[in-house]
Amino acid sequence: MEHLNFISDNLADVNSKIDQALAAANIPNKKRPCLVAVSKTQPKEYVIQAYKCGQRHFGENYIQELNDKANDQEIITQCPEIKWHIIGHIQTNKINKLLASPNLSVIETIDSVKLAEAINEAIKRNDLIKGTIDVFVQVNTSNEEAKSGIDPEHLVELVEFITTKCDRLHFVGFMTIGAYGYDVSLGPNPDFLKLLEVRETFCKKANVDQTTIELSMGMSCDYEHAIHLGSTFVRVGTGIFGPRKAKV
Ligand SMILES: *Cc1c(COP(=O)(O)O)cnc(C)c1O
Repeated sequence: MEHLNFISDNLADVNSKIDQALAAANIPNKKRPCLVAVSKTQPKEYVIQAYKCGQRHFGENYIQELNDKANDQEIITQCPEIKWHIIGHIQTNKINKLLASPNLSVIETIDSVKLAEAINEAIKRNDLIKGTIDVFVQVNTSNEEAKSGIDPEHLVELVEFITTKCDRLHFVGFMTIGAYGYDVSLGPNPDFLKLLEVRETFCKKANVDQTTIELSMGMSCDYEHAIHLGSTFVRVGTGIFGPRKAKV
């Protein structure tokens, strides 16, 4: 097996950058962001190595790949406390496969009432998931037709639906992917600012404390920037595992 020390090194580096970014952030009620290690296209040995270094949250964006890794016997025995996040688009016909993934912990990509309802119903029929599952509502912060995520105008309705009608889903916050390749030297990323605004508007309407609502934003190229703005979940792939492997 090739040398996997680079994963320990990268993880230590990313974790220290997270701490520095948090220290430098000018935001109220600081808490350490959750690092989600995005392992898509990477072999299971990488996941196990990162787990050995203390990493617990892992993200995948294809349901089949998440299901394969989550059911892998070596991962199950060597990573008993692993927490899987789905961070990619969810097709209704893949929900059962998604839920048949041991240690599925967070669904970051709920973007419609229909999807929330379908997942909630499927959880009732599934015996792997006890209690509730944490969910983020994915927001289309850039108003691009092709991007997934709910439009900000329809989001209060969706969150209300989740909190009042989906007894097996636990709403935790908002997620955005944002535009790729945004140049931070131009100022704060507009997608991140939009997500902050969405949270503020939602919290005023729903009369809830903003610090109780998580924000999942920031990837390898911009997680420090996202933390400066108040991100509480960062999703880092290549920054930990190196370039993605070709899709097979
Ligand atoms: C792949 C992916 C990431 C991680 O991207 P990197 O640039 O490798 O850090 C984060 N979020 C989502 C939704 C992704 O699909």
